[in-house]
Amino acid sequence: MDKIKILGVPIDRVTMREAVARTVEALSNDKKFFIVTPNSEIVFHANKDKKLHTIIEKADMVVPDGIGLVIGSKIVGKPLNERVTGIDLMENLLKYADESGKSIYLIGGKEGVAQEAGFNIKEKYKNLKIAGTHHGYFKGSHTGHPNSKEETLAIEHLNAANPDIVFVALGAPRQEFFIDSNIEKMNGKVFMGVGGSLDVYSGKVNRAPKIYQNLGLEWLYRLIQEPWRFKRMSALPLFLIYVLLKRDKSINRSD
Ligand code: UDP
Repeated sequence: MDKIKILGVPIDRVTMREAVARTVEALSNDKKFFIVTPNSEIVFHANKDKKLHTIIEKADMVVPDGIGLVIGSKIVGKPLNERVTGIDLMENLLKYADESGKSIYLIGGKEGVAQEAGFNIKEKYKNLKIAGTHHGYFKGSHTGHPNSKEETLAIEHLNAANPDIVFVALGAPRQEFFIDSNIEKMNGKVFMGVGGSLDVYSGKVNRAPKIYQNLGLEWLYRLIQEPWRFKRMSALPLFLIYVLLKRDKSINRSD
């Protein structure tokens, strides 16, 4: 698989079509498949945080979620083909689950959000099975409490549902910590962190209109809706400057 490194963090040079094909193939294997969908903020974070960096390095597929990584890839001289956003990949996997009758489990969000999201997904994709849902506000590996009673109960609930695909919406990097700590204990084949996507599927938050999506400006739409995010988002120009400065030290390879 062709990979690039941005700030030392490996990203797969996959298109959306390839990302879906690899996941579909993984569903027919026995091996578990962990998908990470970092944006520039998470790559920046992983550049500083060894634990997150190792998780991304070990993941089975790392797709570039965000225009910052596409620009960053041009700076390091190995342009990514396209942006593969987490929510679009999730939507394509839901489509596939519908066509093939696979089951999904949704975990994350405030009380009721995952259930509402599941309800709306089922309305759209009648043939897919919602194996179960769980909120994301419990003590667990994502809050620095691995093996807590609450985490054990959440995993028991998931295991009883025995899903094919598990979408974990605890925000990044919480969801990556949760999946990494528990993947061997959880039933399921594909595990994917999906950030705030359940808030979108539940109807709590609107996704940006197509025009923003096509221009790679979803972050701008989100900023208009949630202006308190400004401090975090202003990290994008800094990220690009950082990539530019570190560019010569990045080792890019194909394997
Ligand atoms: N979330 C959760 N459990 C937590 C923290 C967050 O389920 O302990 C959910 C939250 O409700 C939201 C999603 O994770 O649906 C993303 O949260 P947030 O926007 O705070 O994180 P970000 O995506 O900005 O990192």
